[in-house]
Amino acid sequence: MTAAGRQEWLDGVGEFARSRVAPAAAAWSLGASPGPEENAEAGRLGLFGIELPSEHGGGSYGFAGKAAACEILAAADFGFAMSVVNTHNVALRLSLSAADRIRERYLPDLLAGRKSACTALTEPGAGSDLAALATTAERSGDGWILNGEKSWIINGRHPGLCIVFAQTDRAAGLAGLGAFLVDLDGDGVRRHAIESGFSQTSIGTGGFVLTDTAVADDAMILPPGKAFRAIIEEINGARVYVAAMCCGMLKAGIATAAAYGARREVFGRKLEDHQAWRAVLAEAETDLAAARALTAEATGLVDRGEDARLAAAQAKIAAVETGQRHLPALLHAMGAEGLRPEHCLARHLGALQTAALADGANALLKQQVAKLSRQTTTTTEA
Ligand SMILES: Cc1cc2nc3c(=O)[nH]c(=O)nc-3n(C[C@H](O)[C@H](O)[C@H](O)COP(=O)(O)OP(=O)(O)OC[C@H]3O[C@@H](n4cnc5c(N)ncnc54)[C@H](O)[C@@H]3O)c2cc1C
Repeated sequence: MTAAGRQEWLDGVGEFARSRVAPAAAAWSLGASPGPEENAEAGRLGLFGIELPSEHGGGSYGFAGKAAACEILAAADFGFAMSVVNTHNVALRLSLSAADRIRERYLPDLLAGRKSACTALTEPGAGSDLAALATTAERSGDGWILNGEKSWIINGRHPGLCIVFAQTDRAAGLAGLGAFLVDLDGDGVRRHAIESGFSQTSIGTGGFVLTDTAVADDAMILPPGKAFRAIIEEINGARVYVAAMCCGMLKAGIATAAAYGARREVFGRKLEDHQAWRAVLAEAETDLAAARALTAEATGLVDRGEDARLAAAQAKIAAVETGQRHLPALLHAMGAEGLRPEHCLARHLGALQTAALADGANALLKQQVAKLSRQTTTTTEA
């Protein structure tokens, strides 16, 4: 893929975000959901196949293409961006690891946006601590039987597909985890929606209970021994595109406040003509530039297949906390007007709270930074 080809594609994503996602986002924060039309359009734009090779129907835009698209979509609506990228990630996993039968059966619907998909690790009793996952997968004939409950899963409320992480051998610990493709509309699955105080229906969070759910042998997408390592690598990349999304949300917040400051008059002058008011935007711009620089560095490392663990953790912490620091100030800078749902500020602020948890809670990422940077320092000193 040439740089010009990728830019042309990103311009199309930007137009879609501006013309279809942003205008609908206020309603999605008040309980409405994205419809099949938005998902079909996302499919036509290739958003569910960004990283897939062309022989599997993808666009081969690479990880950098994915991070850039995520930033653009999240600036319009974080929930929709997360929903799209989670379906994409399952499509990519099927492209990389699934048996031909599974790939041929499911990939076309995922790529076209006819079906959504999710990846389920979290359970009511296990979030950050993946060793505590209690969902089980037991051999039965030439297939598997799954039992357990998953919660807080993006796209989990929709009928669709899910890659479920389940324990095949408790004694083996994390190495016993396997990943299984489950049809959330099939027998033995009971789905439910999960709402939060930060209403964002577009992210589609839900949970489901698996009761003696039978899956075929080739539905094991990642075997024990490989599944844990693969998901940790995937989550590492997710930290980087979530950081890009947070940068996109803050950028949109700055643009919204700046546009308001250019038209609202107070004390005989435009808001933007008051130096103290402009300082709020200047501080946000400065910190955004720093968070984007870290995110760009981490994006490059993932894109080149290099070790991005430290950079990914630092980028996500910086981008989430920069947004959390500045969006309230930008909201305040718009007075009461900023609270209206047609502006993105309150919505993005709520989204940042969820970004702080998804794909590695910030407290745990700080532990990782402390550990990895100590290793780097020790190596440098030696
Ligand atoms: C909107 C949203 C979407 C999500 N989507 C998905 C999804 O698609 N798939 C999926 O599997 N999961 C998903 N999750 C779940 C998410 O991964 C978990 O919320 C996250 O792993 C944290 O787990 P927890 O909420 O159980 O918090 P806990 O693990 O119970 O942690 C509670 C708090 O304690 C802190 N903490 C934990 N351990 C330590 C420690 N050792 N030292 C200091 N502090 C600590 C955490 O940072 C957190 O602030 C989603 C969550 C949200 C909110």
